Amino acid sequence: MEARDLINLAYVAAAILFVFGIKMLGSADTARRGNIVSGLGMLLAVVVTLADRSILSYSWILAGLLVGASIGAVAARKVQMTGMPELVALFNGFGGLASLLVAWAELEKLNGAANLLGVVQPVPHFSGVVIYLATLIGGVTFTGSVFAYAKLSGKVGGSAVVFPGQKAFNVLLLLAIFGIGVAFVWIPNPEHAYIFFLVGVGLSLLFGVMGVLPIGGGDMPVVISLLNSLSGLAASAAGFVINNNVLIVAGCLVGASGFILTVIMCKAMNRSLGNVLFSGFGSSAQAAGDDDGREPKAISVDDAYYVLEAARSVVFIPGYGMAVAQAQHVVKELAELLENNGVESNFAIHPVAGRMPGHMNVLLAEADVEYEKLLEMDTVNPMMPMVDVAIVIGANDVVNPAAAEDPSSPIYGMPIIEAHKAKTVFVLKRGQGKGFSGLVNKLFTLDNTCMIYGDAKATISSLVAALKD
Ligand code: NDP
Repeated sequence: MEARDLINLAYVAAAILFVFGIKMLGSADTARRGNIVSGLGMLLAVVVTLADRSILSYSWILAGLLVGASIGAVAARKVQMTGMPELVALFNGFGGLASLLVAWAELEKLNGAANLLGVVQPVPHFSGVVIYLATLIGGVTFTGSVFAYAKLSGKVGGSAVVFPGQKAFNVLLLLAIFGIGVAFVWIPNPEHAYIFFLVGVGLSLLFGVMGVLPIGGGDMPVVISLLNSLSGLAASAAGFVINNNVLIVAGCLVGASGFILTVIMCKAMNRSLGNVLFSGFGSSAQAAGDDDGREPKAISVDDAYYVLEAARSVVFIPGYGMAVAQAQHVVKELAELLENNGVESNFAIHPVAGRMPGHMNVLLAEADVEYEKLLEMDTVNPMMPMVDVAIVIGANDVVNPAAAEDPSSPIYGMPIIEAHKAKTVFVLKRGQGKGFSGLVNKLFTLDNTCMIYGDAKATISSLVAALKD
């Protein structure tokens, strides 16, 4: 067996480890092992690639490894749970940039290789196509992700920006990118082709920003998972460029899984991907819905304590505000105290509560809430009419009854946790702030709803203290 066969065999083994690792990530019990299995696959792929004779400079690789690993380690240590989507955005962006640079370097290599007569040959068509694809997708992913990061971290305005003619402009831009790509691949003169290539790079970078511009703050997780998928496709194209099988396979896996996640999130919001990408949802032009003129009634922590004392069943409904307040640990403490008082407590998890997929599951797992207590929407909704108290912790859109009852509402059709059907509803929030969609929430003014204003962590801590007394 030749060395190349051995290398490819090791790549196949790495790809199998990736697939099994991803499969194991599907359940909480096996997720940790899944991470290790995929990590081993990556280690095998890296070691084999480094051992491959086509590696030119170990010193540059080592330097890159040191710089990248140090930045990554510091960033991963410093990042807050609420900042996770920003970090993922940056990771995707740099993945895209890496693919762009790999493809560009390959083009420089091909352009630098003259034939025996000293004449630079045109780049072969297949190489030209994959180089352009890796550059194009990598470029869009890079600027789109960096702009998404800037939006999420508040460095630029987070809401959707729409302007007249925006869709037409983006379509024209895309057509221009493809047209220039065709010219780059088929023009025989390498110097002219190189100019087309550079223009193509510039337009791809511009398209990344233009594509993310009309997407609003809370829709960013969908865009980030789409960009994640694109970063995988860019890597896969780069794999074709340098003829590396494991990069092709790993890129496809990232591309496919990112796309599946994107579709799952859109389904959970009952919106199409086109609506998320192009509707400008969350822009200031969005209608807020009718205010029925009723005032929400507020109660104190003491009043809430008496109701909880008498309750037999309680369901917690966490949302983005719980992540902001970092209230998950005190919420777990409250649930335990209630259980000790003979109360049945559960957590209702909406698939897009928060600002990233699985946001609530991750936070509650961090606080060691038992996995069996996290109930999905379809399980918990039929139980709601029997629940004594539903405690909504910094959730808004995912409990808005307009999604089920008001056909004129922009979120009509989005599945919700039916908190309004519980006998009593406590809503914990700081004030009159709206949810991501900017809509009025009639849950807050229903007869069975009581507002407890204040930071969710402070409110729950006071409830815990009252129950301990
Ligand atoms: P929302 O954004 O609808 O509401 C969050 C609420 O938390 C606000 O009303 C705010 O009110 C309150 N809040 C903020 N900080 C605190 C605090 N410190 N203490 C108490 N309350 C606080 O969140 P949901 O989780 O209900 O909904 C998520 C939204 O994001 C949905 O519209 C969903 O479609 C969207 N989305 C989610 C995705 C995901 O992957 N998870 C993907 C795409 C979109 P106040 O300011 O008054 O305190």
